[in-house]
Amino acid sequence: MERNAQQDAQHNDTPVTETGSGASSTEPEAAINSGPEAASKTGPEAGGAAAGAEAPAGASEAAPEAGGEPGAGNGTPVLGEVLLAVEELWPRSLAEQWDAVGPVVGRSNAPVRRILFAVDPVAEVVEEALTWGADLLVTHHPLLLKPVNSVAASSFKGNIVHQLIEAGCALLTVHTNGDSAVGGVSDVLADAFGLQHVRPLAPSANGLPEEGIGRVGELGESTTLGTFAETVFSLMPAVAGGVKVAGHRDALVRTVAVCGGAGDSLFDAVREAQADVYVTADLRHHPASEAREAAADGRPYLIDVSHFGSEWLWLTPAATALENVLADQGYDVEIRVSGINTDPWDFILTPA
Ligand SMILES: [Zn+2]
Repeated sequence: MERNAQQDAQHNDTPVTETGSGASSTEPEAAINSGPEAASKTGPEAGGAAAGAEAPAGASEAAPEAGGEPGAGNGTPVLGEVLLAVEELWPRSLAEQWDAVGPVVGRSNAPVRRILFAVDPVAEVVEEALTWGADLLVTHHPLLLKPVNSVAASSFKGNIVHQLIEAGCALLTVHTNGDSAVGGVSDVLADAFGLQHVRPLAPSANGLPEEGIGRVGELGESTTLGTFAETVFSLMPAVAGGVKVAGHRDALVRTVAVCGGAGDSLFDAVREAQADVYVTADLRHHPASEAREAAADGRPYLIDVSHFGSEWLWLTPAATALENVLADQGYDVEIRVSGINTDPWDFILTPA
């Protein structure tokens, strides 16, 4: 999620060559960390090697092969029908005002037999979608957040638009509507961390009481910040930056606030919720430093995770949810989750 459109624009403006140039970035590194011992591995290949070989983490074979003929209506939906199912799960009305969600490329009458889910619409992911023969690529981050005057193929974004259209693959953004909805990005994190009595940090203006940005809830029992951080680390995809923590390792925590993506605009809500620890991504120096200075009794402690990783965890439940809605309507679609690590960072240096 991004509360701050500028930050998001910066993220999405990251040149594709930076996100995809590292050879290791192409490996299925979005593997779930196999355990806290991986903390010492700082190279981008470390996490991927840990779990990527056996189980291409991120690959979610959610449905059997679709059998319908294109447009024949025998179990194969068209894009417009998929968009109705998407609206059911992640209504556009839940998106933040500054956001740009919905279809980016595609004809509503085009048949959709294969759908790929990914966090970022970068070149490597598009290549994966087209190689697999996807008819629809669903990404969390928008390709075109800011208005554009050209999609000439000479720009990297224009080139992506061209590639998708030429291959007949639609592109759909499910961004802050996917954050806010029940079962959204932060709900998935709260579930993964084992939180109970989960409620939104910032309830949605246009949604149900359980919808909104961020979540807060309680662990079943108190644990130390160090142990909780290790749990968080073990659940995240392996990325070069690992997980950063501010606070005393032995301090006890129980109330946990989470926000997938960049959540540094939610500190007031985090304090109001009296969270012991706040898990989010992209925490910059000043918001983090000032939150630590303003902390009461050291709380909330901070756990800074990968922006990509915090949102990647949502993809598999999201793909399953869409598959279920389509199956309820009699549609048979093959859905897969990208295993490409689109975290922009490739390696990190830390003190010995
Ligand atoms: Zn994001």
